[in-house]
This record gives sequence, structure tokens and C-alpha cells, in this order.
Amino acid sequence: MALIVQKYGGTSVGSVERIFAVAEKVKGYRDRGDQVVVVVSAMSGETNRLIGLAGQIDESPDPREMDVLVSTGEQVTIALLSIALQKIGCPARSYTGGQVHILTDSAYSKARIRDIDAARVKADLDAGRVVVVAGFQGVDEHGSITTLGRGGSDTTAVAMAAALKGDECQIYTDVDGVYTTDPRVEPKARRLERITFEEMLEMASLGSKVLQIRAVEFAGKYNVPLRVLSSFEAGEGTLITFEEESMEQAKISGIAFNRDEAKLTILGVPDQPGVAHKIIGPISSRNIEVDMIVQNISADTGSTDFTFTVNRGDFKRAREILQQTATEMSAREVLADDKIVKISLVGVGMRSHAGIASKMFEALAKEGINIRMISTSEIKISVVVDEKYLELGVRALHEAFELEREI
Ligand code: ADP
Ligand code: ASP
Ligand code: MG
Repeated sequence: MALIVQKYGGTSVGSVERIFAVAEKVKGYRDRGDQVVVVVSAMSGETNRLIGLAGQIDESPDPREMDVLVSTGEQVTIALLSIALQKIGCPARSYTGGQVHILTDSAYSKARIRDIDAARVKADLDAGRVVVVAGFQGVDEHGSITTLGRGGSDTTAVAMAAALKGDECQIYTDVDGVYTTDPRVEPKARRLERITFEEMLEMASLGSKVLQIRAVEFAGKYNVPLRVLSSFEAGEGTLITFEEESMEQAKISGIAFNRDEAKLTILGVPDQPGVAHKIIGPISSRNIEVDMIVQNISADTGSTDFTFTVNRGDFKRAREILQQTATEMSAREVLADDKIVKISLVGVGMRSHAGIASKMFEALAKEGINIRMISTSEIKISVVVDEKYLELGVRALHEAFELEREI
């Protein structure tokens, strides 16, 4: 007998038929003698629909009320799945995040889980029931509903598995595992049988939304065995593992990309101490995350240019703040571009191999793709390119690094 936490994403519960299919799958595990906790997302499209409704009333609605609103999507699914389970003869009970005391901080729309009270869930499991928990939501110390950020049901599932000391956390989705890159962009992408936590963390943070980054962080921290699988077809999926010394490492494990990027440049600022702080300070103090930063080497004019990227959602606000800074500093001009994307090569094997960057730049150059920004770390190289080159760039790199071939 095992204790398994399963998470089903939006498409996997996107219709009554799909919910029945999930119920059958869950029942299969329970009939085998396993204890099963199921975490579900809202039906596909529902979270966006709810956000759209609020947007029709107010351009920037109150964050607390937004969380009350968007958390309803998951509440629908837990009830429907429990009804379906009971209908096919499988005892089940549904709970909202608050009901199972998923305690979070009060950062609406991006709350972090602090604690989970597993006792209630344990009692139900011991009584032979399947427990169905709403993903993506929790409650803060004042009793207000919070949500965990887009894709947050993954994190609920991993946190439940950690709290219950589950044997495995299975993330069921609409692809049958983690691929070398998004298979919707590169059909030749190859499913990975295993990927290390470190690499998965990097892929997630660089834009691969197959797993929410916090879910990967949590799984790494609490040692939760994590697997990504398809809810539509049988298979082993992809296991997220800790790095094994003996394992032959591929140089590159995958390509991630992020469409959610925008670029801002301030031209002609003085080249002197404190300037970077003056530019970035007002942006980050407004809680806008800055990703890549590039400062040009100044010519002998005593002035320089400074470029950085932010999320597209923060683009307008960041541009306004930067305009203000530019006026204060008597900078020459502010340039803004929200038609850019970031493409990244990821691999722990990159550490020990020289020449990856030049091969990457060569592959992009061959396709006539201009690189606008570059940033590197031990296990990744990221470039910013024009949005129109996303697909071409990803495919060119996939080909150049022969990722369709198993090593
Ligand atoms: P769910 O609703 O089940 O949470 P998501 O849409 O959040 O599903 O995540 C699954 C999607 O992630 C896939 O449909 C795929 O397009 C995308 N994706 C991006 N990068 C990868 C990758 N490297 N491997 C697999 N899927 C990826
Ligand atoms: N329903 C939420 C979203 O669309 C959470 C999730 O699906 O994981 O982001
Ligand atoms: Mg998701």
C-alpha cells in the first residue's frame, strides 16, 4: 500500500467526460489498496474567464477580492470530481484549501505555503476515502483566501505530498512527461525519462510551465519523489531525480523559453557609481521583478546605456517609472520593447563543456536571428530575441544540439 498524491491540471478535468475518466483512474489506484489524495485545477479556461470578468469591472481590481474570485474555479472541480467518484462507487470527500488548513502568507495572487495540517486528510484516508483537495489556494492567518500564482496547483500537490510524507507525487497533465522543449513548439522534442531537480528548477524558472517553479523547489527541499505523466495515455512519464554522479550527463537537457518578457533601455546616463542603483531601485521598490540586466561599456563620453527586462505584465508601470528616472537623471532617451522573448539552453552537463555558447550563437546566426541580450550561468545560457523568432530559434537550437537523439 502506498500513499500517492495525484494532481490533474485544467485540460485533464476540462469536461464532465474528462472528470469521469480521472475518477476511473483514481478509483483504480484505490482499488489496488493505495491511499489517494487528488489535487485538481479549475476546468481549462476557467481561471482566465474569471480574471476577464473582473477586468470588465476594474482594470486593477483589489487583489484580495481577485483571490476570492479565482479560487472558485478549483472549488467547482473538487465537488464535481467527488460526485463522479461517489457515482462509480468510490468514497470521496472534497476540501477547499482553507478547509485542510493550507496556511499561507498574505501575498495575494502569489502566496507562499507556510504550513499544512494533515490530520484531517489522514483521518479520511484511514477511513478509506479518497480526498480531493482544491489546488492553487490557501488561507492566510486572518482567514482570507489566497492563491499561489498561475500553475499553483502543482505546488499544492507537492506540499500535500510533503505534509503527508507521500510515496510519490504524480502530476498528470496534457503531455506525457517533461520534454527537451515544449512539444507544441518543436514536434521533434523528446520525452526525458529523468531530469534532475536542478535542471527542472532551471527549466521552470526560465519559462517551461509544465511544472510551477515553486512546486519543484518544494519537492527538492522536502525530498518528494515527483513524476510528470499524461492523464490521457498510459506511460512512465518523467521522474524528477536528484543528481546521480554515475549518470552519463547530456551536455544540454533542454530548451526553455519565456514569452512573458519585455525590455527597457535608458540611453545616455552618467557613467559613475550609484547609477545602476538609481535606475533599478525605484523599479524594485514597486515590487517589479527585474530579470536580465546589461550595462554597456561606456565609450569615452562619460555616459553609458542600461538595459533590463521585466515581465510583460509589469511593462507599462516599469516604463513610467523609468521615464521619471530618465527625467531626473537628464538621460537622453528611454526605449521600450515588449515584443521580445527569452530562449534558454539548460543542462548541468554544460559545466564541463566549453564551446556551448559559441555553438548556440552560431545556430541562431545561421537563421539570421539577432541576439539582443545574453546572460549565462553555470548551467544555462539565455538569449533575448525578437518575438517573431521564437519558434525558429527553438527549433534551430534543438537541431544544432541534436536533442531529438537519445544519448
Ligand atoms: P496543466 O493544466 O495540466 O497544469 P500546463 O499547461 O500548465 O498544464 O502545462 C503543460 C504544458 O506545458 C504542455 O501542454 C506544454 O505545452 C508545456 N510545456 C512547456 N515546456 C515543456 C516541456 N519542456 N515539456 C513538456 N511540456 C512543456
Ligand atoms: N487554475 C490555476 C491556473 O490556471 C492554477 C493551476 O491550474 O494550477 O493558473
Ligand atoms: Mg500547470
